[in-house]
Amino acid sequence: MLHFDMDAFFASVEQLTRPTLRGRPVLVGGLGGRGVVAGASYEARVFGARSAMPMHQARRMVGAGAVVLPPRGVVYGVASRRVLDTVRTMVPVLEQLSFDEAFGEPAELVGATAEQVEEFGARLRRRVREETGLVASVGAGSGKQIAKIASDLGKPDGLRVIRRDEEVRLLDGLPVRRLWGIGPVAEEKLHRLGIETIGQLAALSDAEAASILGATIGPALHRLARGIDDRPVVERAEAKQISAESTFPADLTTIEQLRDAVGPIAEHAQRRLERDGRGARTVTVKLKKSDMSTLTRSATLPYATGDAGTLTATARRLLLDPARSAPFAFSALAFPDSPMSGRSRCSPTSSSSSWNCPTPRCRYRNRPPTPAAGASATTSAIPTSATAGYRVPVTAW
Ligand SMILES: [Mg+2]
Repeated sequence: MLHFDMDAFFASVEQLTRPTLRGRPVLVGGLGGRGVVAGASYEARVFGARSAMPMHQARRMVGAGAVVLPPRGVVYGVASRRVLDTVRTMVPVLEQLSFDEAFGEPAELVGATAEQVEEFGARLRRRVREETGLVASVGAGSGKQIAKIASDLGKPDGLRVIRRDEEVRLLDGLPVRRLWGIGPVAEEKLHRLGIETIGQLAALSDAEAASILGATIGPALHRLARGIDDRPVVERAEAKQISAESTFPADLTTIEQLRDAVGPIAEHAQRRLERDGRGARTVTVKLKKSDMSTLTRSATLPYATGDAGTLTATARRLLLDPARSAPFAFSALAFPDSPMSGRSRCSPTSSSSSWNCPTPRCRYRNRPPTPAAGASATTSAIPTSATAGYRVPVTAW
């Protein structure tokens, strides 16, 4: 498996198309008060500037020499197509992760030695540089996870082939966060149990991994941690939407509660996006209120991203303060008869079709938590569920 990744793509395209910017610390991203860095040249990274960082912070780090530019999506789109068309001349089937990143498994490398893979990767990097003037790093390994880690290790302007026999040693020592699909929430869960490295995660039993990380993704992540990764390269074309939703067991009345609650939901959707090997441009937040009315807000980023920080921050920016959404007639979500004589003890499951109850024989277990008809308005503003959805573009633009 090969992972192909352009180095500092946005900033490099700016430096390529505006030669006076070469050798200078370039920051691409939002210029407004809440702008986020979308790309930083290596000259800017020397000062600590990174993608997804608030622009004002990156600016401060780089100092007076910083060149700050708004993203030019159309220009990056053209550059992206040229780069990937060049890659396709050597790797015909590509699974594009974003505008500047792709997986490929060229048929001619089946059964190849590490030296042959290295030679192929070097040739690929050379061709891209000659054809487009842009620099790419390439990683190779037995599966997607390893290949992505390899290209990261190869950066900047490098090539790294990870052999079968170094795989386990390399994975074992890495922090759990480096594993595909582990976001800040899962990372924190693992840290609380003293699990810091991928090796420590791999050493758990299947059942332990499932109980910590959940029955849906736990087993998959555990397999990845053990170096088992047979996901194939899949070309995708159709646009689609990935979303996650949660119904809250208790009323949310402040913007702070809402912001906290949206974090894990946005992250869950991001993990699915990541597992799908995709980036998103449009972030949508849907709030359902206690009177069952729905409020939907969305924002479109100038570029596609799979970055958890950027996506979560965008979702949070879309939230409205429940206390100040006056035009909406909020009413308290009243459950017709509160189970276990107190909502705190039985909570609706995420699918909202049943309850999590402290006792298995609880009579509310399979009863849908529907609001009471004509519930009296007792509290002011109460979103009862939130959805964070990411729309995935057909191409990166
Ligand atoms: Mg890149």
